[in-house]
Amino acid sequence: MAKERTLAIANGIVGAPYGVFRSHVMILGERIAGFSDDDSVLTGVDQVIDAAGLVVLPGSIDLHGHFEDPGHTEREDFHTGTKAAAGGGVTSVFEHPLTYPPTTTVQLYQQKRAMASKKVVIDFGLWGALTPISLEEMEGQWRQGAPGFKAFMADSEPAYPRADDGALLEGMRIAQRLGALVLVHAENNAMLQVNMARLHESGRTDALAHHESRPPIVEEEAAHRALYLARHAGARLQVVHSSSPATAELVKQARAVGQKATIEVCCHHLLLDLDDLERLGPFGRCAPALRERALVEKMWDHVLDETIDCLVSDHCAYTLEEKQRGYEDIFAAPNGCQVMQEMVPVVLDEAFHRRGMRLDAFARFIAERPARIAGVYPEKGSMLVGSHADLVLWDLEGTWVIDPPSQQFSKNPWSPFEGRKCRARVVRTLVRGETVYVDGEITANAGSGRFLSVQDEHGLGRPAATT
Ligand SMILES: [Zn+2]
Repeated sequence: MAKERTLAIANGIVGAPYGVFRSHVMILGERIAGFSDDDSVLTGVDQVIDAAGLVVLPGSIDLHGHFEDPGHTEREDFHTGTKAAAGGGVTSVFEHPLTYPPTTTVQLYQQKRAMASKKVVIDFGLWGALTPISLEEMEGQWRQGAPGFKAFMADSEPAYPRADDGALLEGMRIAQRLGALVLVHAENNAMLQVNMARLHESGRTDALAHHESRPPIVEEEAAHRALYLARHAGARLQVVHSSSPATAELVKQARAVGQKATIEVCCHHLLLDLDDLERLGPFGRCAPALRERALVEKMWDHVLDETIDCLVSDHCAYTLEEKQRGYEDIFAAPNGCQVMQEMVPVVLDEAFHRRGMRLDAFARFIAERPARIAGVYPEKGSMLVGSHADLVLWDLEGTWVIDPPSQQFSKNPWSPFEGRKCRARVVRTLVRGETVYVDGEITANAGSGRFLSVQDEHGLGRPAATT
């Protein structure tokens, strides 16, 4: 057997989920082999990467990416999307089933898994689908590696019908039996339709009309109902891309009575508000909508007290033309923000430099808790000895200005954060001990990323299905 390569990341400040300390990080093959501040450990190591003046954080695990592949590869694909992730300090991404066609069957799930495996430069997982037309496919998707299932409570795409309460409860029961997670896009469809009809009637097409079509109660009521149904079914529930502190309160209360409930937040809901929606127009259109500043501030309270579990991108790539249609009529632009490459830098900048968040808390927010939620902990997200060496070297003093055309790996460079000054810069990204990004360049080949399965074949610690 060939001897495994040794690598040391020397002289950095380690920001692990369990603490912040100065240490060399020793890596053997794909895994962390140890931590030491004794320089003698560097002797005889195959490669030493000097991280003096830098911070070493776990790679971010993004539980919510959309790469539009298959179906709309003019927008993004698994190669460009995971390159953007690597450039932004993300080392694992879990992609959502809403592609074209959506992965509502076992066969479509398998096909997407095989196709994506050839393109990715970081590790990836695929959520399965929970829709009224695909309940029978859930177990099969779980066997193929789906750690959980996504349900829309409001209309999204005709090919991916929303789960009404009956289908949602039924899907939750199936997920409970499998030990899988249910992820809900929580928005009340009836309220949304009434608001849309009223705004249409009055001829409103401005950016703020988008916010008025889905005020916070649209999200909060649906999250409340999903939590109630999940409690009844005994299923683990994650409320995706929450925009409302009241939703975070509901999740906190559910956990206080023993329910397994978690909640994620997008970078844009932490950094942008209604003024930005007005300024950005269609490029700030997302669902749930951006919120008023007072609510954004309260979301930060829930991040800092760790009620909100994890940071996600909800990266939605669209062409500029598709988004620009919304300048005339905001409702003509598709919902979603392209943020994969900027997500972690802009939030780290804000959290560390302006909100007093410690690096260990940040590591839990971007890596440890998402790894636990997706069932890939402690292999991922732990920074423990024996875990995958998914690491990012950060310059927390390096200021840069976001300029998508000259920086982004996404297919159609744009970002709602364009022009923002950011004091946190990714210097190098490693996936399982291999450098995949350094100083503006991607150094990994398509297909070097690995599929993350909840099944046993990848050694992630879950027993294989027995029945
Ligand atoms: Zn999404």
